[in-house]
Amino acid sequence: QSQLSIRNISKIFKTGDGVKNISLEIAKGEMVTLLGPSGCGKTTVLRSIGGFLEPDSGDILIRGNSILQLPPEKRPTAMVFQSYNLWPHMTVYENLAFGLKIRKYTKADMEREVKAALEMVQLGSAASKHPTQLSGGQQQRVALARALLLKPDVLLLDEPFSALDAKLRMEMREELRDIQMATDMTMVFVTHDQEEALSISDRIVVMHGGQIEQLSTPQDIYDTPQSLFVANFIGRINVLKGVSDGQHITVGGLRLPNPKLELPIGHCIVAVRPEDMYLSEQEEGLTGHIRQVMVLGHYAEVSVNYEEEVLKVFVPRQQAATLHPGQPISLMFSKMNVFPEISVSEADK
Ligand code: ADP
Ligand code: MG
Repeated sequence: QSQLSIRNISKIFKTGDGVKNISLEIAKGEMVTLLGPSGCGKTTVLRSIGGFLEPDSGDILIRGNSILQLPPEKRPTAMVFQSYNLWPHMTVYENLAFGLKIRKYTKADMEREVKAALEMVQLGSAASKHPTQLSGGQQQRVALARALLLKPDVLLLDEPFSALDAKLRMEMREELRDIQMATDMTMVFVTHDQEEALSISDRIVVMHGGQIEQLSTPQDIYDTPQSLFVANFIGRINVLKGVSDGQHITVGGLRLPNPKLELPIGHCIVAVRPEDMYLSEQEEGLTGHIRQVMVLGHYAEVSVNYEEEVLKVFVPRQQAATLHPGQPISLMFSKMNVFPEISVSEADK
């Protein structure tokens, strides 16, 4: 039995925007991320689970029971927002204890639970402080602790780290993953940041225009995007024109086995990640000229003029030192994804 079942929910606002036919089964202890560009409907799905928004149709169940009739505070869910929503006039302890007071915890139980939750988010000594005395990252830790100590069946997190700087964001995602594994808590995490999604999720739901575009593991989404939209949105990708004769795909001077035999014969789109391309002195690949070499720490991003396109290739730093703009070069690759030609216009819409 799923911990959380979302069954065919739709919510269309007066403007015509919203989400359509979202279905999703999440297992106990799973971390599932809703990923997609701004406006694709992530928050709408999350608020529907939390009870802050009523879907037009469909059902939402937690451990087999429909929760749609329950107000937010009666649902076995808790939510963490991008803005921390702490009460500024209360201490950290009071912010955390508030929810437990409503649940009629004894003073001793309350103190024990609050202490444990604060320790879990590495804020053991902050109980008597006021939120304004804490940094943004610390305030978000308090908000997380406040949600955790309610021990919800499903914890909902809506872009919780988006207001934090890049380094802190990375630390927080590691900490959240640690907490999630230690507590076996089921989490639905919303983000528009593909790197964040790839790094913390058991599974990712890629959303686009109010619908689910792909639902799979991070690895699978990255390696085998099912559409050009997903390929473009997650990671970096070079998009090329190819021709399929069925068994093989021809791109420039390259002829490669067709990884998708159901693809119609004729023109197609070939998508190759920069780390799957390499430079060759031989002329059998895609021949072009080096446009620019940008060293980015341990590797370099090389842009290559190829026909009308600018292609990106990642190369080791040592190799980058031997390259210069204008140099003729040949690009090779063996790993690619292919899509029917039509998906270009679909990806544009
Ligand atoms: P995301 O969280 O992925 O950025 P949202 O779920 O917030 O997207 O919004 C999805 C779409 O629905 C957007 O086009 C947004 O403008 C619209 N929308 C969200 N909430 C409302 C609302 N309360 N009234 C009208 N339109 C809304
Ligand atoms: Mg949102």
